Amino acid sequence: MIDFQAIIEGISNNLQSVYDRGDVATYIPELAKADKNKFGIHLIDSSNNNFSSGDSEEAFSIQSISKVLSLAQAFGKVGDQLWKRVGVEPSGDPFNHLSLLEMENGIPRNPLINAGALVVCDVLISHFDNPKDDFLSYVRRISNEPEIYYDEKVAQSEKRSGFNNYAAAYLLKSYGNLKNDVETVLDFYFHQCSLTMSCRQLAKLFYIFMNKGKCLQGQAYLSINQVKRINAIMLTCGFYDEAGEFAFEVGLPGKSGVGGGIVALLPNKFCVVTWSPGLNPKGNSKLGMLALEQLTSKTGLSIF
Ligand code: GLN
Repeated sequence: MIDFQAIIEGISNNLQSVYDRGDVATYIPELAKADKNKFGIHLIDSSNNNFSSGDSEEAFSIQSISKVLSLAQAFGKVGDQLWKRVGVEPSGDPFNHLSLLEMENGIPRNPLINAGALVVCDVLISHFDNPKDDFLSYVRRISNEPEIYYDEKVAQSEKRSGFNNYAAAYLLKSYGNLKNDVETVLDFYFHQCSLTMSCRQLAKLFYIFMNKGKCLQGQAYLSINQVKRINAIMLTCGFYDEAGEFAFEVGLPGKSGVGGGIVALLPNKFCVVTWSPGLNPKGNSKLGMLALEQLTSKTGLSIF
């Protein structure tokens, strides 16, 4: 039996002495307030045993991690039709790059870069009467955490500064790959990204991707095949132009966000979440990457 608690505490201790913690994201002004001395980790195994250390109960902005959740809701709703409007190839580009979008006629490379996530939002808006409410209750139901909320300040902060996302949305619109209007799609997207929760809450939420599509209460949200596809997309596209590095160092499917969170999972075994707001130059949490490398190296558990 692996002693996850001892391993996680060991990792937390090791990381305390790391001097260079990266830089907090400032392009969304509200995120610049985060304290880069924070570090939290929570691991949940397939039998619902929970292990944590550090600031694992503190709520943070999950940002791009939310793209996996909107993808799950849209894929669950419309099935394989989704792939007519968004691809499944890694971009090898930063999350907000627009050049490929133009070269590939408005079909984003994958649903985890910003342009792809905007198309996914558009699909949800077309299928739900109250997409923001429906998305929030989807997230609350899966995690069984009714307290999860949108941080309105973060959403408004990004609305005021998210010019690159406006550019992506208008470009998609010009190619006919947004059915709803740009403001509506961006409003949904900025709210989705502003979801705020702790490492523990996020681990409960991502349990479905580790557990063949079923939440902790046993309800199925995705088929086994759909989970396979979403995990494949996380592995190849979850860290933008650092997806290769994450697979090489950590060896798990996962997803990062500029709020400093990272979720990673080993199918049928465990789901782990780290949070530390200091980012490396590629926009991924500096300490989070180090922590997860140590976790899979010390336990010998990875998909490889
Ligand atoms: N809301 C952020 C953006 O669109 C999400 C980016 C991220 O977490 N990588 O820029």
